Amino acid sequence: MNTTILGYPRIGARRELKTATEDYWAGRADAAALEAAGAELRASVWTGLRDAGLDAIPSNTFSFYDQVLDTSVLVDAVPERYRHLSGLDRYFAMARGVQDVPPLEMTKWFDTNYHYIVPELGPDTRFRLAGGSASKPLVEYREARALGIETRPVLVGPLTYLLMAKPAPGAPDGFRPLDLLDDLVEVYAELLERLAGAGAAWVQLDEPALVADRTEEEITAFARAYARLGGLPTRPRLMVATYFGTIGTDALRVLARGRVEAVALDFAAGPGNLEVLASVGGLPRKTVVAGVVDGRNVWRTDTRRARATCATLLGLADQVVVGTSCSLLHVPLDLDAETSLDPSVRGRLAFARQKVAEVVALGRALREDGPAPDEVPAPAAAVDRDVRARVDALRGVRRGDRADRFTAQRAALGLPDLPTTTIGSFPQTAEIRRARADGRAGRIPADAYVQAMKDEIARVIALQEDIGLDVLVHGEPERNDMVQYFAEQLDGYAATRHGWVQSYGSRYVRPPILHGDVARRRPMTVEWATYAQSLTSKPVKGMLTGPVTMLAWSFVRDDQPLADTARQVALALRDEIGDLEAAGVRVIQVDEPALREALPLREADRAAYLDWAVEAFRLATSGVADTTQIHTHMCYSEFGEIIGAIGALDADVTSVEAARSRMELVADLRDAGYGNGIGPGVYDIHSPRVPSAEEMEDNLRRALQAVEPSRLWVNPDCGLKTRAYPETEASLRNLVAAAHRVRRDR
Ligand code: GLN
Ligand code: ZN
Repeated sequence: MNTTILGYPRIGARRELKTATEDYWAGRADAAALEAAGAELRASVWTGLRDAGLDAIPSNTFSFYDQVLDTSVLVDAVPERYRHLSGLDRYFAMARGVQDVPPLEMTKWFDTNYHYIVPELGPDTRFRLAGGSASKPLVEYREARALGIETRPVLVGPLTYLLMAKPAPGAPDGFRPLDLLDDLVEVYAELLERLAGAGAAWVQLDEPALVADRTEEEITAFARAYARLGGLPTRPRLMVATYFGTIGTDALRVLARGRVEAVALDFAAGPGNLEVLASVGGLPRKTVVAGVVDGRNVWRTDTRRARATCATLLGLADQVVVGTSCSLLHVPLDLDAETSLDPSVRGRLAFARQKVAEVVALGRALREDGPAPDEVPAPAAAVDRDVRARVDALRGVRRGDRADRFTAQRAALGLPDLPTTTIGSFPQTAEIRRARADGRAGRIPADAYVQAMKDEIARVIALQEDIGLDVLVHGEPERNDMVQYFAEQLDGYAATRHGWVQSYGSRYVRPPILHGDVARRRPMTVEWATYAQSLTSKPVKGMLTGPVTMLAWSFVRDDQPLADTARQVALALRDEIGDLEAAGVRVIQVDEPALREALPLREADRAAYLDWAVEAFRLATSGVADTTQIHTHMCYSEFGEIIGAIGALDADVTSVEAARSRMELVADLRDAGYGNGIGPGVYDIHSPRVPSAEEMEDNLRRALQAVEPSRLWVNPDCGLKTRAYPETEASLRNLVAAAHRVRRDR
């Protein structure tokens, strides 16, 4: 082993996997066709990697949906409700549900935007190697071998699998999936023996859970599991892969002393790995896979730095293999497909295919101790001195006293107690989507597009007036995506044409690339907002996406601290907010749905993150008069460790999800000292169900136990863009009725 990668995108150059799975789901293709498409994609990845000169090629990184779901099927952790189905139908039912059978939960894979299917485990879960010799890792290993390609099967490690699982509904209190570790390890033992029998020389066990904070008990369990696997009489060599951060010292000590042959460490997201490695005395007689090519981001590798890291590692391990920091699943497939990117940006980028070439080149340089083939420095990021000077001048800004603002806004806006509003978007009908697509593609003239959007805004304003809402929105018909919409208008951001990255299942996103200093060329939302405001005497909320979310859902430059980049985005938003205010918009909402998900994996890193996140939000929002009301919105109610930060944002009104947790967080926020307006979503927009006025009234009364009526806002729990009009209108009418009843009774 000299060069390797930890995994590769599955989708195919022309998104073949998406087409094939969606055709299967729609009944347009049968299982055989889907299987054939899968086999073809796998073959093309393996042969592509071989032809690129990579010498250790992973297998079992392909998936029809998700590798964690694959693992659940592999070990037969299939909840009872899916057991009447079999094969692909069972598999997809677990992922997506079928009539009357809800799917398994889905959640984010560590701090990435990839979502995995959460295993549901209980004391009755009986693990076994479900497919025997026909289980997926074996099948794919033999499939590659038949093509003449020797591979290293990749498995989600048993510790990570269990730590990512949740207790099945009905499991007794106190049950933890990790309690099942010993049973699960026996299945892995059987699988390893079978893989060895099939000829596999190496197996990769992914244990990213080791880069988050772990208890002593978890580390002990981990040590026990790997002692068992390492002690198997016949087994492939074991490579334990960690990624997304720095491995814990205890965990690395276990690996250093234990019977595994290689450890993969992430030197992109885990710069502390060198130090941890040195502190445990290195990995004598073992191999370290040096994750020096960043698998999470799109930048070309700094080859000098990567070589220096490898050179240091040579003193700390028996052998150094050049690798990616994590699977390449998280970056787009091929930069060559991007023909219209600015060359100065393009020259700094590497997608999955280019990253493989980097690994191969670095491997050669390391082995031959010769020059790295490509040491032409990447072009530098574009610098905007004006932006930098202004950002520096704006450190530590904040708004005036919150009580003064409250009084000023009440007088200026003339709002009743329990004011009603929505989160921003209204249903995006097929008609709107078509108009937007036609406008983009130039199939309709620019003024026809503008008119179509204005007509929609006018409809949405009239509807809200008719329903009787107090603070209106323009409905966001012009936005395809809340980040992309702004990225397209800001300097320093670029969009790709084919840069798809898997988000979940067959859903792929194309994150914009934040490559240089961010600057606002011209107002981005003012025209739509002022048009909407001109149609009504009620306040219309201006609608923006906050700095953290603008970074979290993009690929972001890594040549300066995130905090600096966030400040630049914040400055652009500050200017936009100033323009909105000057144009007569009196309420402005800055959405930060990503605030919690961007929280670092380790406790020790969180305070610093929250500091810059809060500072950026304040920089964006603190330039307005006391009479201008700033709102923010987040799509969850379990604040946990960020509850203090919510208050520190100092928005005048914060709207959040709350319906599913019965308004509990209103009291939580009060207890955390939050004293501004709060809009706990009184109904769940994630389903077409129309909640009754009574139900919402009940929610409001509950909330009023923890907050006074002048600070309680009445709104749904998220934007309405995924809903249809009939249920939206009915629900909002009930919402207004609920607010009226509660007001009347006071
Ligand atoms: N304003 C956005 C909307 O209503 C907020 C979306 C979000 O919270 N993710 O669509
Ligand atoms: Zn939301």
